[in-house]
Amino acid sequence: MRIVVIGGVAAGMSAASQARRRDPGCEVVVLERGHDISYSACGMPYNIGDPARGLEDLVILSAETARSARGIDVRTRHAVQAIDVSRRVVQVADLEAGGNYALTWDALVIASGATAIRPAVPGLDLPGVFVLRDLTDARHIKRYLADVKVSTAVVVGAGYIGIEMADVLHGLGIAVSILEKADQVLPGFAPAIVEVATHALERHGVSVQTGTSLQGVQREGDDLMVHSDRGVIRAQIVIVAVGVRPDVALAREAGIVLGASGAIAVDSAMRTSAPAVFAAGDCAEAHHLVLDRPTWVPLGTTANKQGKVAGANAAGGDEHFGGIVGSAGFKCFDLEVARTGLGASDIASAGLDAVAAVSTHHTRASSYPGDKAITTVVYAERGSGRLLGAQMIGGEAVAKRIDVFATALHARMTLAQVEALDLTYAPPFAPVYDAILIAATVGVKALAKPRQ
Ligand SMILES: Cc1cc2nc3c(=O)[nH]c(=O)nc-3n(C[C@H](O)[C@H](O)[C@H](O)COP(=O)(O)OP(=O)(O)OC[C@H]3O[C@@H](n4cnc5c(N)ncnc54)[C@H](O)[C@@H]3O)c2cc1C
Repeated sequence: MRIVVIGGVAAGMSAASQARRRDPGCEVVVLERGHDISYSACGMPYNIGDPARGLEDLVILSAETARSARGIDVRTRHAVQAIDVSRRVVQVADLEAGGNYALTWDALVIASGATAIRPAVPGLDLPGVFVLRDLTDARHIKRYLADVKVSTAVVVGAGYIGIEMADVLHGLGIAVSILEKADQVLPGFAPAIVEVATHALERHGVSVQTGTSLQGVQREGDDLMVHSDRGVIRAQIVIVAVGVRPDVALAREAGIVLGASGAIAVDSAMRTSAPAVFAAGDCAEAHHLVLDRPTWVPLGTTANKQGKVAGANAAGGDEHFGGIVGSAGFKCFDLEVARTGLGASDIASAGLDAVAAVSTHHTRASSYPGDKAITTVVYAERGSGRLLGAQMIGGEAVAKRIDVFATALHARMTLAQVEALDLTYAPPFAPVYDAILIAATVGVKALAKPRQ
């Protein structure tokens, strides 16, 4: 029994390890076109922000350890060029030694991930202009920051990776400008959250231009001239963080069905439309439990879990992935931002009738020093009162508070049920009524009001 895995990061290595665990007798081959396997992409911005730390700190499992300790045949710099689902063969290019070979499989896991979107404007291939998708990108950025005197940076895109990079570059003493095409930073977040985030960016001296499109980058001496439809900014580094798209070319060409999102359609066992072919991670869809339909939310947490299920099933198991509610969190300078479930645009496109309720509260009891503000937006369905989503921003303990809302979404709770939860109170951690309970109370009141 040979299981071939395409891609050796979160989903791929989870699948490979799980397959070997489930069936120690099976042969598992991981084909990874890059240099690295099994690393924490999520940790890359913070590592770039710390010149004293090496990027190898992000490696969870090296190719050597995967081979020697887990018995996985890891082949880095081996790119799969085509999948033949009827003959159960992949065509592989050895990018170091040169040449191609065919490799047969009994089960295949596609874990080809996502690629960073590069807008079609001139100058994005200039030295000093980067995307941040993988460890090679991180290496290039880190080396550039060590070698070149950078005093100003432009970050294109104000989603979570753009904000994390702005934070990190600012921490290195670099003046940062953010260009964002949408009319707000943090696209997808509610106005109340965006307002607090925008103030934090301003407080830290970050220049933010929303409603602004990148038009190109030119080199002028040692500097990069970043052109937008609002003017020109001089910088020494440009980070382009305008989103990712699923890497599905191989699957598409093999005739494997893609979902409406453009990612590979899978069932809960991570089976694709082709027999014995599984897909997991950023290249695959996931069932959204609030929408009750497949969606594409490319996150590491999902990639790891889906990979595990795909690997187990490729080795003959019967595991199922439970679905997602779309939980994510990140740091925005001295604040934490997190969300779960649906936002306003998801609610509108799903045709749901919902209220949005905004509340501002505290992270600790007023009797305890160090209290920080926390703003919450909850969305709930009119009529049923069902919680649909929540977003929070504040000085501490935000990401873990959002997990209470995420749990409530899994349990399909109403906002009134959230309001009745028995949550911890102790002055260092929360006021008597936690921000979660206050947000639920405000939401329940909004649900009771007649529509205006
Ligand atoms: C800067 C940054 C910060 C992030 N922060 C967070 C976070 O805080 N929380 C969170 O949950 N998620 C976060 N993510 C997202 C998370 O890293 C991804 O969801 C996760 O890496 C997806 O894993 P994957 O294995 O599906 O895909 P990938 O990590 O994209 O790996 C896919 C691999 O497949 C290889 N491959 C593709 N095609 C072929 C081929 N034809 N042949 C051989 N190999 C191939 C690629 O080279 C690649 O190495 C972050 C991502 C980035 C970039």
